[in-house]
Amino acid sequence: MSNVSGNLFVIAAPSGAGKSSMIKALLERHEKGSMQVSVSTTTRAPRPGEINGVHYHFVSEAEFLQQVEKHEFYEWAKVFDNYYGTSRTVIEDTLASGIDVFLDIDWQGTRQVKAAYPGVHTIFILPPSNEELERRLRERGQDSDEVIAKRMAKAQHEMSHYAEFSYLIVNNDFATSVDNLEHIVMSQRLRRSKQQIRHREILHNLLAEE
Ligand code: GDP
Ligand code: ADP
Ligand code: 5GP
Repeated sequence: MSNVSGNLFVIAAPSGAGKSSMIKALLERHEKGSMQVSVSTTTRAPRPGEINGVHYHFVSEAEFLQQVEKHEFYEWAKVFDNYYGTSRTVIEDTLASGIDVFLDIDWQGTRQVKAAYPGVHTIFILPPSNEELERRLRERGQDSDEVIAKRMAKAQHEMSHYAEFSYLIVNNDFATSVDNLEHIVMSQRLRRSKQQIRHREILHNLLAEE
């Protein structure tokens, strides 16, 4: 079972398309320790209910820029008016211990990850319509009208990058979308190269006879 390196997945979407909910639902279906979502560092203010170290590592702009200078980020980007970044050591250590990692990041960060790690699997989540996207942002009840208007304007730009991703999921029916996400993850786990390592002993025993 050992020595299989984890798969790296990037999941991007316009804000409100449902990616956090989908990743959360997928993690709930799988045993702890087989997949993790990377906790980003951000300069944005925590939303009600968001916990430091669980949803994000919340830092000041000065602290963030210091970490940039020390090359502590695998990738980072300015999204809306805030900085967001992915910790380098956490990604590398988690993958090395055989755990699949999900990055919930924007298209700018995805470009950086693709350059640094060509084996990454990139997934884009789309809402079924612009009207439904706006409805979800409002229903989530986390952002002011002003922030929602800004996110809707940005959504068009974010969605224009969908073709840079290998997989596309339209998040209409939630359960179906989570199933689709799971199929993408499982297909990577079932690759022969991974299975060869995972089932080394079985293969050895099967092929040992004459
Ligand atoms: P966050 O994880 O704190 O960002 O919360 P979200 O806003 O992403 O999701 C809130 C809750 O709603 C989570 O428990 C989701 O699993 C759940 N949820 C999200 N979308 C749907 C949906 O379309 N149908 C159902 N049944 N549950 C949903
Ligand atoms: P993101 O992480 O992409 O910004 P969220 O996961 O926070 O988006 O989802 C935004 C809102 O839309 C949440 O209130 C969530 O419950 C809701 N939502 C997500 N997927 C669906 C869906 N398929 N149908 C209806 N509502 C959804
Ligand atoms: P939110 O404020 O809604 O949590 O996230 C806003 C946007 O920032 C989303 O598009 C999300 O994917 C992106 N984002 C979150 N964390 C990171 C990160 O570590 N790096 C990059 N590049 N983008 C991120």
